[in-house]
Amino acid sequence: MSFDLAARLAARRADNLYRQRPLLQSPQGPVVQVDGQEYLAFSSNDYLGLANHPQVVEAMQQGAARWGVGGGASHLVIGHSEPHHQLEQALAEFTGRERVLLLSSGYIANLAVITALVGKGDSVLHDRLNHASLLDAGLLSGARFSRYLHNDLNSLQQRLHKAQGNRLLVTDGVFSMDGDLAHLPELAAQAKAHNAWLMVDDAHGFGVLGNTGGGLVEHYGLSTEDVPVLVGTLGKSFGTSGAFVAGSEELIETLIQFARPYIYTTSSPPAVACATLASLHLLQTEHWRREHLQQLIAQFRQGAQALGLNLMDSPTPIQPIIIGDSGKAMAISAQLRAQGILVGAIRPPTVPAGSARLRITLTAAHSSEQVQRLLDALALCQLEAADE
Ligand SMILES: *Cc1c(COP(=O)(O)O)cnc(C)c1O
Repeated sequence: MSFDLAARLAARRADNLYRQRPLLQSPQGPVVQVDGQEYLAFSSNDYLGLANHPQVVEAMQQGAARWGVGGGASHLVIGHSEPHHQLEQALAEFTGRERVLLLSSGYIANLAVITALVGKGDSVLHDRLNHASLLDAGLLSGARFSRYLHNDLNSLQQRLHKAQGNRLLVTDGVFSMDGDLAHLPELAAQAKAHNAWLMVDDAHGFGVLGNTGGGLVEHYGLSTEDVPVLVGTLGKSFGTSGAFVAGSEELIETLIQFARPYIYTTSSPPAVACATLASLHLLQTEHWRREHLQQLIAQFRQGAQALGLNLMDSPTPIQPIIIGDSGKAMAISAQLRAQGILVGAIRPPTVPAGSARLRITLTAAHSSEQVQRLLDALALCQLEAADE
């Protein structure tokens, strides 16, 4: 029997890497119902608390009433409807780019862009901690694949020197498992110096960073010339679903013509675009969500430091606590759960070997009291962990 699945599954379990899906029985929010019990949750990417916002829900309902439910066909056939088009225009204005293309998910967007831009004979350069979808896209493209040390300009420069063909330099904006920021101005300068294009996937920066939620490029004030390829996802701060690529007219037209993951898939439901138009409006105009979030981040970091916890260099709602061993990370996550608090333990291969962690995420929907409850619970875990 060649497919020994039982052995693979047993090995996964033995390595403390077995995955289980918590069953969510409520909408996203600070307090959720999971597997029949209520928890205070710090594990969602709904950073602005928009996934269950009444105005966004209402927009989706009205969108479904007006446009029906299914996308019906691919964008190039008969699936590109008015709400999709309006959302593309609104996102182009929001990002200050000539044009935007809407895709059905961030994973798909990254596959679409990278495979359309580079191929055999070209080079794609990755930060070592880039999101899995970017790495997979690089492999699928057939381009030469090179990973530089995390945020390390020297390591990047060495690899840029050796790169051949068209060079695509790819990075997360906010790193999804660490919460730290890519050094975009320096990366943009390096890219220019080596005639490479910089592609930024700012899935976790949009909504959270920048004065109007424009993400890391707004934070640093970078233009299309600096960052020719900008990717954002809609399932995180926007609270809905899908993704977009922003850039020049030529870039977007190239994707429409050549990006297979764009061409050969059904468009997402138009009602989702209606909902995203509503959440984009809230994201841009309700600056208090970002301010409140920043206050919670500061409160959490202060409290965690006072407890002697090992924080990472993260100014974002992603506040990981590195545990190291996967089993121990699971154990601490279970201790929190016993106290009514839900925090995911993130293990390899999602993060590098030996760096299993609690990935705590804060959202604008949390209150200061709830963050204090988390800190109190962590204090108890730490004591138990130290006693082991
Ligand atoms: C979540 C994420 C994606 C995938 O986006 P989906 O819309 O969930 O498919 C891509 N890149 C990064 C950096 C992400 O964090």
